[in-house]
Amino acid sequence: MKTLTFDVVILGSGLAGLRAAIEAASSRGDLRIALVSKVQVMRSHSVCAEGGTGAALRPEEGDSFELHAWDTVKGSDFLADQDAVFRFVRMMPEEILRLDHWGIPWSRRSDGKINQRPFGGHSFPRAVFAADKTGFFEMQTLYDTLQKYENVQIFNEWFVFKLLIHEGVFQGVVAWELATGELYTIHAKAGIIATGGAGRLYAFTTFSHIVTGDGIAMAYREGLPLKDMEFMQFHPTGIIPSGILITEGARGEGGYLLNNKGERFMERYAPERKELAPRDLVSRAEMTEILEGRGFEGPNGLDYVHLDLRHLGRDRINERLGLVREVAIKFAGVDPIEEPIPVRPVQHYTMGGIHVDIDGKVPTVEGLWAAGEAACVSVHGANRLGSNSTAECLVWGRITGEQAARYAARAKHTPLNTENVKAAEAYLQSMLDKNGNESPYAIKHDLQRTMDRFVGVFRVGDELEEAVRQIRELQKRFENIRVVDKTSIYNQDLQTAIETSFLLDLGLVVAEGARRRTESRGAHARRDFPKRDDENWLKHTLARRTPDGPEFEYIPVNITYWKPVERKY
Ligand SMILES: Cc1cc2nc3c(=O)[nH]c(=O)nc-3n(C[C@H](O)[C@H](O)[C@H](O)COP(=O)(O)OP(=O)(O)OC[C@H]3O[C@@H](n4cnc5c(N)ncnc54)[C@H](O)[C@@H]3O)c2cc1C
Repeated sequence: MKTLTFDVVILGSGLAGLRAAIEAASSRGDLRIALVSKVQVMRSHSVCAEGGTGAALRPEEGDSFELHAWDTVKGSDFLADQDAVFRFVRMMPEEILRLDHWGIPWSRRSDGKINQRPFGGHSFPRAVFAADKTGFFEMQTLYDTLQKYENVQIFNEWFVFKLLIHEGVFQGVVAWELATGELYTIHAKAGIIATGGAGRLYAFTTFSHIVTGDGIAMAYREGLPLKDMEFMQFHPTGIIPSGILITEGARGEGGYLLNNKGERFMERYAPERKELAPRDLVSRAEMTEILEGRGFEGPNGLDYVHLDLRHLGRDRINERLGLVREVAIKFAGVDPIEEPIPVRPVQHYTMGGIHVDIDGKVPTVEGLWAAGEAACVSVHGANRLGSNSTAECLVWGRITGEQAARYAARAKHTPLNTENVKAAEAYLQSMLDKNGNESPYAIKHDLQRTMDRFVGVFRVGDELEEAVRQIRELQKRFENIRVVDKTSIYNQDLQTAIETSFLLDLGLVVAEGARRRTESRGAHARRDFPKRDDENWLKHTLARRTPDGPEFEYIPVNITYWKPVERKY
């Protein structure tokens, strides 16, 4: 195995990773930074973000940091850490302006100012957008900006499968170059995990196939705690039958949800905010309509409701929601100018992640940070508001990039622990050698079915127990897999096997965490415990790996400003 030496290694080139790389590179020109991604930079999942990035830009028109913070905390069902939320909202406007200066084509108002659209749970139009391709333009702008820095080396299509941590100190990662099959140790003083969420735990998801929770699972395997993993977001408008996202921007622009009686049913569930209530609430409302027989019958049990944009008119749809129209025509055969779009709740975001402090620092490991969807700071608590995720990636990309660079400038490389490196090599070889009779693809498929079926919008104790039982069974089956392709170049079989093993670890944490949390809060809605229970459950979950499965402990939420109250919209 070859060894490369860098000061900082960043895992992931989505919004969080790119922002971190720019910050680290620009803060110290003499640092050598490695940016590693299992896909080409611009194929990172962040390019899919559509609707917008939240920031309180307009005090003169009535918005404020406090209002953005309040919306976020209330949206989180009071599980967000309020000190982190305040830091977040204060830093966001600067990030929007910075991207503007770096050349992003933000959509503008007729007075030339940056435009903002309404988003669910926000009490002010706060989502800054670039039509409905916000993530693509943000990624392109960051990627272009990064080209200025010669001290960053990008490793595209390098698959990291092991973190090297020795005696509480981060030492680097082990990566596999997909195009050649070569193994490398990247020896570094500081690391930032920005590998995204775990959306592909589910089959009906808005996430790309590459989003398999790798960084979160690698941290878990090193004994690091994962926070609040039971909180999975379901977005109200996944298109039938693929689950591709129809952005909340569509409702922000004025789209309605209708049941099979033609009723605008959100008037009953959230009289004031209607379709622009937070996602947990709208998803539950849709499922209730469907379960009570007021939905439309869809393929493979994917019953749905209608999202109606027709009243917005051709010009507005084409100008503001061009991608939505294209997706609806291509993937559902429906032109939203003429017909409503069939939609239902779809897995959309991992609120939990690697437990980090307010600086994105992993508390127990020297030299290690995490940012973006892989991390749990926690700004989103039990339910993220739309537009706050791309925003979080920018803020904690910047913070972790700056902190990791500062640390790396004064730290020294510690001698690599060769046992860890050898163990990584042996692990990869053992996976490649697997010659049993189970298919990793089939196991992944079965895991997704279990999660879709039992760990969805509504949950109930015995179904969660069944999910846990099935996932443990799948873990046993996984021991007997066969990796058919034994070659070294672009070995998709081997990659899928490793990703599936990561997902199995995380699936168990999600299902078991959900089983234990006997209350309903944000996106975690228990039919058998329908109320929020602040007395017993106003706390973060931490899950640690043991040989028998996850072990749980609970830590307090930082409530620095607002006491929890009932959420009404
Ligand atoms: C369809 C869609 C639309 C969305 N729209 C919005 C929106 O409008 N506003 C908003 O705020 N949020 C939105 N979100 C959420 C938001 O896009 C994501 O939460 C955010 O982009 C995640 O960014 P990230 O940098 O954390 O991770 P990602 O963009 O997922 O990047 C992860 C990176 O890690 C790399 N990686 C992963 N595993 C490995 C490995 N083993 N080895 C090496 N590299 C690895 C990947 O190659 C990739 O570069 C949307 C989400 C979806 C699914």
